[in-house]
Amino acid sequence: MSDETPVCSAKGCRTAAVWVLAWNNPKIHTPERRKTWLACEEHREHLSQFLGVRGFLKDVVRFEDWREPEGS
Ligand SMILES: [Zn+2]
Repeated sequence: MSDETPVCSAKGCRTAAVWVLAWNNPKIHTPERRKTWLACEEHREHLSQFLGVRGFLKDVVRFEDWREPEGS
């Protein structure tokens, strides 16, 4: 457990994150690998689109519901 407040991954944004965007770049990651970005309410759409148009986006989960996959 960390007492650091997770913040949004959007450039320059320091807002507390409320969403987890799980993504995978098939060119550099194995299929089961998940990279994660954090997003505030405002940037969820922007970051999702960025990943979505590249075909990288796998999942968008509320931060409190996110569980890091075992063994990652
Ligand atoms: Zn943000």
